[in-house]
Amino acid sequence: MSVRTVTSEELEEQRIYIQKIRSAFHIRSTPPLAYVHSYGCQQNVSDGERIKGILSEMGYDFTEDTAKADLILFNTCAVRENAVERVFGNVGALKHLKKKNPDLIIAVCGCMVQQEETAKRLQKTFPFVDMIFGTHVLHTLPQLLCSIVFEGGRVLDITESDGIIAEGLPVKRESKIKASVPIMYGCNNFCTYCVVPYVRGRERSRAPSDIIDEVKALISDGCKDILLLGQNVNSYGKGTDVDFPELLKRLDSLEGEFRIEFMTSHPKDCTKRLIDVIAESSHICHHIHLPVQCGSDRILKAMNRGYTREHYLQLVDYARNRIPDLNLTTDIIVGFPGELREDFEETLSLMKQVRFDSAFTFIYSPRLGTKAAQMEDPVSSDEKGKWFRELLEVQGQCGSESYMKYEGKILNVLCDGEGRTDKKYYTGKSRQNIIVDFNGTENDIGTFVNVKITKALPWALIGEKIN
Ligand code: SAH
Ligand code: SF4
Repeated sequence: MSVRTVTSEELEEQRIYIQKIRSAFHIRSTPPLAYVHSYGCQQNVSDGERIKGILSEMGYDFTEDTAKADLILFNTCAVRENAVERVFGNVGALKHLKKKNPDLIIAVCGCMVQQEETAKRLQKTFPFVDMIFGTHVLHTLPQLLCSIVFEGGRVLDITESDGIIAEGLPVKRESKIKASVPIMYGCNNFCTYCVVPYVRGRERSRAPSDIIDEVKALISDGCKDILLLGQNVNSYGKGTDVDFPELLKRLDSLEGEFRIEFMTSHPKDCTKRLIDVIAESSHICHHIHLPVQCGSDRILKAMNRGYTREHYLQLVDYARNRIPDLNLTTDIIVGFPGELREDFEETLSLMKQVRFDSAFTFIYSPRLGTKAAQMEDPVSSDEKGKWFRELLEVQGQCGSESYMKYEGKILNVLCDGEGRTDKKYYTGKSRQNIIVDFNGTENDIGTFVNVKITKALPWALIGEKIN
């Protein structure tokens, strides 16, 4: 598939709309306020930062209070049903604000509304929503907003423009220390349960030079923690002459004091070469998020995951040999259509064998348009709930044991703010990407400090700074 980068002419056209709105806001004594909330994955959070960047150029300031906002924008997720229902609930709750302030603009964008049925349902249920737009037209936000501000009416734009990449959009990052950098968009894998390929389009990789330039600029701006994003970073680079291990190598060779993390890795495309690059690197985190989803070959096949349990276990062995302090995390789905107790027990046994440091576990949620949504699903939700709790218990034990091995050890921690477990601490992440709270000071924020671990909690470590 050919990738089309949004042209400078197209971006220039959007800049004219930005100026138009900016001028209209000039007569106000205070800047208009926007409330922007992103649901779901890091990719969405990253899109949210671009949305905020564009709004900021238009003259908006930001508020955390919907009651004070002139524009409310929900950037939505579609990956599970409860994410969608939450948005419907939260949008419904805005009705009274619109009644009080008819000039309030309410917008819903992102994955959930990229599905036409959901977009139409939202539009019909909530006539007070002014603007609905999908994941492919984010860069045209100035134009969409202009049409609401100057022409009134409602906007619905969920055009699919597969293969598009917009470079050069402004970004308003939440932190100076941490930044996420998308390296690719979309997904070609069509795991049978997953809605992502339908709402994010086909896989397309950014040019290596664009990524490297962005990372270089971040490092020289003082950014210390760079998260590379993609639905399947391991297949990065199709259509370029650089694959993911090579991209990592080039980023690792940049000058400066920084860390590189990435997500998400797909086991079918995770190579030994990638693991070797991490093992030999200076800056890459010793953390791989490698979603296994299930321990049964029969269900892995039905999920269209493209690997077997054995292949996964071999990868884990190789990775742990090459990177002894590897933090290995995963995603698991319980109750896929047709999954039997014996399949689930294979997931349990895989969990016990691998002993993940941590795992995100989900009960299967049928998604409109996916293959799995058509499959027979005879197991009751009560039964799936029981399996889910069993899994949590097993994982709870593995996770606690894994963190306990750090007690007494010294970890290098990038401090990024006030304590997560207690405000008396300062907090950061180790190279293994594990949260560490310690007795720091404000001066530690944005620096790397050595911390001796004194206590392990199930989701974080506590320690003392050493000089
Ligand atoms: N691209 C990433 C993540 C995709 S979504 C990957 O392939 O790993 C994040 C996680 O949500 C998935 O790993 C999966 O565990 C879960 N998920 C996706 N679709 C789901 C569904 N329909 N029901 C329940 N969990 C789902
Ligand atoms: Fe969804 Fe599979 Fe693509 Fe991940 S790799 S986004 S789970 S289709």
